[in-house]
Formats: sequence, structure tokens, C-alpha cells
Amino acid sequence: MRALGVTMMTCATCDKKFPDEYKYCPMCGGPFDNVNDPHYWSRKALNSRLGGEPLSKSIAALKTACELAPGNAHLLCGLGKLYYRTGELDKAIEFLKRAIEAKPEYSDAHYELALSYYRSGRIKMAIQSMQKCLDIGHDDMGAYYWLGIANYHLGNETEAITAFQHLLALSPKAVIANYHLGVNYAAIGRHEEAIAHFKRVLDACPDDQAAGYHLGMAYYHANKMKEAAGVFRQALEQDPRDHRAKDMYEMLTEVPGI
Ligand SMILES: [Zn+2]
Repeated sequence: MRALGVTMMTCATCDKKFPDEYKYCPMCGGPFDNVNDPHYWSRKALNSRLGGEPLSKSIAALKTACELAPGNAHLLCGLGKLYYRTGELDKAIEFLKRAIEAKPEYSDAHYELALSYYRSGRIKMAIQSMQKCLDIGHDDMGAYYWLGIANYHLGNETEAITAFQHLLALSPKAVIANYHLGVNYAAIGRHEEAIAHFKRVLDACPDDQAAGYHLGMAYYHANKMKEAAGVFRQALEQDPRDHRAKDMYEMLTEVPGI
């Protein structure tokens, strides 16, 4: 029994003090404050997020956690994600790469790394990382979405279509995938497929102006002028300021002068 020098620990959950012989708080089971424990700092970062504090506060806490546990992939990935949120993309990439070094099969880190690459304009690297994320796990709707967007950005419409089709197979209610499928099919001249997908967007959201315009254009390119004019007329009824629809409607309906 130690008569002297008993160190008191503060419960991080209920704030009561107990001697350090306890591993967890005997009152509530919560952990004790211990500035040498990386989990103390990761909890601090989490509570900072839950409390609505600026991202920089969580970053500072998680940075300390990573210094105490430099090989902890989860902490490294968490820090990388926070740097992505503040737009510090070089740091985001650095920490996400470290997370992958620690756990090469950590699909979340590959996903987040892909987003940072995409935001920094490194689209091919974004595609590689998103593909790696999907090689590890095929059930990530977000990864298919970004794979589709990144491929469209590079002009790889066929690959984009494949990605959005996978997305829809995984999540049939992800209506917006139809919009992207329509845009990609239209870009490679497959207007009938584009029409079908834009229609699905409009079934779910009849006042979607962008989908309406693209549907009209797909009809126009498919040589279905009557249908195109009908779509543009409807768009103008919904919003008379829609200049794109107005120009197309007038072009399709005005009899040329002799
Ligand atoms: Zn407690």
C-alpha cells in the first residue's frame, strides 16, 4: 500500500478524481485523462468536432495523437481527412499516404487520398486511388461516384459510364447517377440512352432544370424535334427566364423567313 505519492487521475467522462491504481473510472467506467495516451488526444479531437469547434482545434489534438502513435493508421487517416477539410491538401496527402503505409489495405485512406488528389487537380492519381479503394472493397458507393466524376473529367466517358452503372446497381435510389449517365452517354453520341437516364432524373425531380435542358438537347440530337420542343416549352413554363430553353424553343418552332 502506498501511503505517499498517490497520483490522482481525472476521469475524462465524469471529471471525478481517483488514484491511478484504477485503469478506468470506478464510477462511470470512462477513461482517465492521460496526456501521454494517444487515445486521450483522439477523444479530445472527436469531442472538439462534436462541440462545434473550429477544425484547427481537432487538427491540433489529432496531431499530438499521431506524434504519440506514429504508426496508427486510423489516427493518420483521421488527421489527413481534417487537413482535406481545411484545404491543406499537401498535408492531407502526406498523412493519408502514411496511413496507407501503415495499413496498405485501409480502403478509407485510399478513398480520402483520391479526394485530395482530385481536389489538387491530379485526376489520374485520383482515379488510381479510387480504383485501389474499390479493389479492396466493392461496396463503396462514394468511390464509384468519384471514379465516374474523375473519368468524365478526363474524357473517359466509357469508364465513367461503367462506374455510374456500378453505383446504380449498388444503390438504385441514387437517382443523380442517372444524370451523370445521361451526360456521359450524350457525350459519346448515344442519345437514346441519354434520354432514358435524364427521364429518370425528371421522374424523381420534375423541376430539375439541368436535367430538363439536357433531355431537350438529347431529343434534339436524336432528331426528335417535336419531343425536344415540348421539353423546352415545359422548361419555359416553369421558368420564363431560362434563356437556354428559350433559345432552343425559338430555334425549333420559328418558321424561317424567306
Ligand atoms: Zn467517470
